[in-house]
Amino acid sequence: MAFPGKDPVIVAGAGPVGGTFALYLAQEGFNVVLIEKCAVLPEDLRASTFHPPSLDMLDRLNLTTRLINMGLVVPKYQFRERSSGDYAEFDLAVLKNDTKHPYRLQCEQWRLNQLCVEELQKIPNAQVLFSHEVEDVSQDADGVNVVVKSPEGRKTIRGSYVIGAEGANSYVRQKSGLEYEGFTYPEKFLVASTSFPLEIYLKNIAGVNYIADPAEWCIVLRCADLWRVLFPTKPGTDEKVLLSDEYIQSEMHKVAPKKGDFHIGHRTLYNVHQRVASTYRKGRVLLAGDAAHINNPIGGMGMNGGLHDAFNLAEKFLDMRAGKADESVLDVYDRQRRLTATKFVQEHTIANKKMLEDTDPNSSKKRLAEMKKMADDPKLLHDFLIRTSMISVVRESYQIT
Ligand SMILES: Cc1cc2nc3c(=O)[nH]c(=O)nc-3n(C[C@H](O)[C@H](O)[C@H](O)COP(=O)(O)OP(=O)(O)OC[C@H]3O[C@@H](n4cnc5c(N)ncnc54)[C@H](O)[C@@H]3O)c2cc1C
Repeated sequence: MAFPGKDPVIVAGAGPVGGTFALYLAQEGFNVVLIEKCAVLPEDLRASTFHPPSLDMLDRLNLTTRLINMGLVVPKYQFRERSSGDYAEFDLAVLKNDTKHPYRLQCEQWRLNQLCVEELQKIPNAQVLFSHEVEDVSQDADGVNVVVKSPEGRKTIRGSYVIGAEGANSYVRQKSGLEYEGFTYPEKFLVASTSFPLEIYLKNIAGVNYIADPAEWCIVLRCADLWRVLFPTKPGTDEKVLLSDEYIQSEMHKVAPKKGDFHIGHRTLYNVHQRVASTYRKGRVLLAGDAAHINNPIGGMGMNGGLHDAFNLAEKFLDMRAGKADESVLDVYDRQRRLTATKFVQEHTIANKKMLEDTDPNSSKKRLAEMKKMADDPKLLHDFLIRTSMISVVRESYQIT
């Protein structure tokens, strides 16, 4: 029987990772069922930074130009000192020979989710099931049974494989008995958005800014029509206080001391984790995206890493169908992508957080001076940006056998 057999590939979760994986396979002619628990895709304020390799990959699905049209191309980003306003600026143009997209794209992740679903709904061999929540998974030698709660009641969908891409609380992972090893930070991160032009107060600010401070660091990001600010919060503080107008206004006024209140669009509190699943493959069950690994958002590597999982895994499916590889290539997926998460993304994002929250003013001054030197030296800058934009780690992952 031709791979993968008569039953569809089931993808749990229509986030950026599940949506992209499902679309890639569907465009290649696979029968795909994408299962999403929400009735309508949420427009939540999470990822907004797309790195160059992700844009190169999404181009293969004809999505990059559409995302660029909805977002903001950011050719330079900054590392700033909050008190003095001094900054180092990194110009991604040095990556022009390494990527078709030598910049970051600032565009909300939900826009990608919507594009994927919109495209899937045009493909006859793809099915998108909203208001379907995965509750259980089991497998045998020939396929998987995925139990879902749906408006018609509980039912079982038979598939050839199931990809758990339903985020950090993945049932596919939990019901398959896979550990999610790591830790959760005691503090939560608060994200607020405003349409107020913060650039009036933050002189020469870029579209992406990591702002260090011994007392309270923050990240200031621009999307097409709003600014987003991410703050750490004090562990143990009542969530109602953190989400109150009073608290958010006072935090925003520390960033830009304007007269009167800011108009606040979104406001969300997030738990922050550093975790990686013990394996990304158990037989016909596979994990990708936050279901497989999660990290703090400093550096913008969670969704991007998940998208790299989606492309890597889809390529393995294509190789199996073409007879170029057998099922053991799925273990290669596990090794390539899990090592990337543990050895690069986890280490990098933990270090990024430590750097921003450093309480020693002398070491942060020294770091800024070193960053400025690096930003002015094309060779050093290239070495730095090829790593932080995830180009080298994607290349290296494909070398793992
Ligand atoms: C504040 C913040 C900022 C961030 N910024 C960035 C950034 O700039 N760049 C970056 O790369 N990453 C960033 N991240 C991380 C990024 O948001 C995640 O890594 C990304 O959302 C993971 O995508 P995913 O598709 O794996 O999971 P999700 O986005 O969580 O999608 C999972 C989907 O599955 C659905 N679902 C859940 N349970 C079930 C179920 N049982 N059955 C069916 N469906 C289910 C959900 O409704 C959802 O649609 C940020 C995260 C936060 C919190």
